[in-house]
Amino acid sequence: MTDRYASFVQSAAGRALVKRLGLPDPPRLRRHHPGDPLLPGPALLGAATGGRLAEQVTKILTAAGVELADPAAAAEWAGGAPAQHAPPARSHGDTPQRYGALLFDATGITDSTELRQLYDFFHPQARAVLPSGRVIVLGTPPQECPTPREATAQRALEGLVRSIGKEFGRGTTAQLVYVTRDTGDTGAVGTRTSLESTLRFLLSGRSAYVSGQVIRVGGGAARTPADWDRPLDGQVVLVTGAARGIGAALAKVLARDGAQVVALDIPAAGDALAAVANDIGGTAVQLDLTAPDAPTRLAEHLASRHGRVDVVVHNAGITRDKTLGRMDADRWDQVIDVNLSSQERINDVLLERELIPAGGRIVSVSSIAGIAGNRGQTNYATSKAGVIGLVDSLAPALRDRGISVNAVAPGFIETRLTARIPLVVREAGRRMNSLAQGGLPVDVAETIAWLAWPASGAVSGNVVRVCGQSLLGA
Ligand code: NAD
Repeated sequence: MTDRYASFVQSAAGRALVKRLGLPDPPRLRRHHPGDPLLPGPALLGAATGGRLAEQVTKILTAAGVELADPAAAAEWAGGAPAQHAPPARSHGDTPQRYGALLFDATGITDSTELRQLYDFFHPQARAVLPSGRVIVLGTPPQECPTPREATAQRALEGLVRSIGKEFGRGTTAQLVYVTRDTGDTGAVGTRTSLESTLRFLLSGRSAYVSGQVIRVGGGAARTPADWDRPLDGQVVLVTGAARGIGAALAKVLARDGAQVVALDIPAAGDALAAVANDIGGTAVQLDLTAPDAPTRLAEHLASRHGRVDVVVHNAGITRDKTLGRMDADRWDQVIDVNLSSQERINDVLLERELIPAGGRIVSVSSIAGIAGNRGQTNYATSKAGVIGLVDSLAPALRDRGISVNAVAPGFIETRLTARIPLVVREAGRRMNSLAQGGLPVDVAETIAWLAWPASGAVSGNVVRVCGQSLLGA
């Protein structure tokens, strides 16, 4: 499904009309291609006095080949001496300095009066970010803060980040990353390893349609890949609902990242499924997830073919929309069964049989309908809110086994599902977000892939919205 309006505004005539009438102006988003640099320009780093992460962030960026805009400050941090830095927007001749990213370590902020340091850093740079640039603020999870004042100040970071996501425009995204103090027993090295996959994802074009998110990076075991262009090398990944839409895009992205993909869908979608699997050198499993023997058949297949499954992506989903008063029980039952109960049954059997090893990943697909609710979708929204409950309950329960559990919650994604929405509602859905456009299946796929990487072991219990910072459920 193409967004004709977005294509039109890229033309000369379209640009003129948009400007004159004040119409929504969807920017062209920077999306990832293998071999791309992480950023379109240098990164400017800042830190509140007493911050604890700047040194690791500097090392991660340097290792990733990112040019640092203020190497002197970076060197100071790399030497372990964090200080407040807010260089003014500088110019080289007549050309103002522009940045691919602004990163600020706010972990040193322990009182609301110190929030001023955020203003001091971001205010001079508000117009200095390149198109599809990135803003990342790093903080300490409020519940870990030793004093109410520090917890209050750290919680305040959310307001800044979500507002920058709405203000900066031109495809710039903004995220808050809360980094736990306990990032493993290896201290600074542990923190660096834990944080690296998340920074790489958020800075790159992989996160094109993710904005206004709060991501928690904790203490799970993360494994740095030999090659960041193939971060899933050797991993066996199951994708349900892989015959089309988001699932098909996901199979491709996971295979590109080095995974051995097991693509599953219903027998009626067998031909499309086989085409997806053949295209990526994966295997196809025809199975209706709601069949009573589906979990055991799947477990037996995975055990006999691969001996394990490193990553399980529960993507299959259906809608059966009707307002509650008009909804028959079948519609309710089918949606809850496909979108939620089947995931629970499959998790139970795979975990019982220990087919998901330590370092394994479970990633489920929720929806912003599960966060905001939606008229005509009581069944769907219930199932998708249930997926969030599954993450909340299972992530702590599986921490000791070294298995992470996360969900993505897509907003308006250009698929057959959204193409069926009546035109006016569809246009509203597309534009009501900070990026003024729908996302693509690949945007959801890239986000799931990041959560699946062995390097993302410290990311668990998160629900990451892939919605361009939709106004719904915000
Ligand atoms: P889609 O309908 O294009 O694809 C879903 C796939 O799941 C289909 O191939 C289908 O055959 C398969 N499937 C359905 N029931 C199954 C079963 N019982 N057993 C095995 N496979 C089954 O949908 P999509 O738009 O690609 O959505 C993928 C996921 O993303 C779903 O969970 C959906 O709820 C969620 N989502 C989509 C959007 C969006 O805008 N498209 C927004 C939010 C959430």
